[in-house]
Amino acid sequence: MERTSLNLVFVGHVDHGKSTLIGRLLMDTGTLPEEKVEELRQTCKDEGKEFRLAFLMDQFEEERKFDMSIDTTQTFFKTATCDYVIIDAPGHREFLKNMITGASLAHAAVLIVSAKEGIQDQTWRHAYLLGLLGIEQIIVVVNKMDMVGYDEAVFRSMVNGVTNMLGQVGAKPMTLIPISAQEGDNVASKSDHMKWYDGPAFLEMLDSLQTPVADMEKPVRFAVQDVYQVNGETVFVGRTEAGRLCAGAKVKILPAGHEAEVKGLHVFGAEPTELVPGQCAGVSLSPSLDIGRGAILSDADALPSVTKQCHAKIFWLGSKSYRVGETIAVRCATQEVPCRIERIERRFDSSDLQNKKEGAEEMAETDIGEVVIATDEPIVLERFEDLPELGRFTLVEGENVLAGGIVTDSK
Ligand code: GDP
Repeated sequence: MERTSLNLVFVGHVDHGKSTLIGRLLMDTGTLPEEKVEELRQTCKDEGKEFRLAFLMDQFEEERKFDMSIDTTQTFFKTATCDYVIIDAPGHREFLKNMITGASLAHAAVLIVSAKEGIQDQTWRHAYLLGLLGIEQIIVVVNKMDMVGYDEAVFRSMVNGVTNMLGQVGAKPMTLIPISAQEGDNVASKSDHMKWYDGPAFLEMLDSLQTPVADMEKPVRFAVQDVYQVNGETVFVGRTEAGRLCAGAKVKILPAGHEAEVKGLHVFGAEPTELVPGQCAGVSLSPSLDIGRGAILSDADALPSVTKQCHAKIFWLGSKSYRVGETIAVRCATQEVPCRIERIERRFDSSDLQNKKEGAEEMAETDIGEVVIATDEPIVLERFEDLPELGRFTLVEGENVLAGGIVTDSK
């Protein structure tokens, strides 16, 4: 069987056990060798500290920092069939931002809820983000089962609560697993403490996930990042966001609206005949046009919308609040255009999703809003549902990311 690689995010309220579960996985999959674990146990003992599995994650990250030969997004742990990359570790301040800006795209999410503490405000917030970002593979782990006497009734009631909560944000769990990250129950293998549970252990479930394949049949979208002169020829360097871009294809360059033919494709000295989604490359055009960063090369027969207004759902991350009408900027793929939130149709608190404020004039940290955004210049956008790569954006002020969002309507 071919090995696969899967990007995971671990989400859940603080202290519900994300780091402990990751530590447990590092240990039970043999990623951190036995000696290392022992060494850490000894250090804790010498320092009079209680040993915690969560320290293993910190230790692992610390070691990676010194290993310059590896890039930051690398395998955390492996099983017989799959390499797992944890694209952001819990506790990082950039965590929500990375998730919503799509800086790192998750193939699957693990939502951790403590059986002892139950659903808390960050559980709601993270669940909302999973729904917003359309992450389809969600595994819920009900942790700390050891603290509730491995009681089936507690688990059942958590299953109801969490399924209901996810339903409210438009998401559905693939499965819910009762575990104890600390004791190792139902993590790498099935536990004798919960004989009433007949589903898979957590690692078994992970190994059954799919790496979603890019949809090649979508219309071509290529986002220009930079322009270079190579041997007297203008080469537009960028990323294929969707579709297959072939040499000879007719493209429209948006938002300007010029038409051109793809003369050549260039990837590290090679000249492939087509580019696939996710691939970065250089493209030369005929005629060669005066375009720059932010231009989107699009399938001439299936154009995205070029608009100065869109409806969106946004998640406010900035500590500074925003008043309707203030000028900020929207970033989508390589585009950046000045904009304003023209109207807030609905605003609610991400900690419970209940507290709706109609006709709000302001967005503040951790608010969620359904808004209308107006841009000063035309921008290429699509509904997130149709093409996530051009349907996901951030609102920025200088380099400061204020909010992330998805386009619900681009007309
Ligand atoms: P995080 O903030 O979600 O990363 O949570 P941590 O992994 O740091 O865990 C928070 C606290 O809960 C720590 O004191 C852990 O030792 C404890 N903890 C985590 N998982 C379990 C568990 O399965 N059982 C018990 N009894 N304690 C746990």
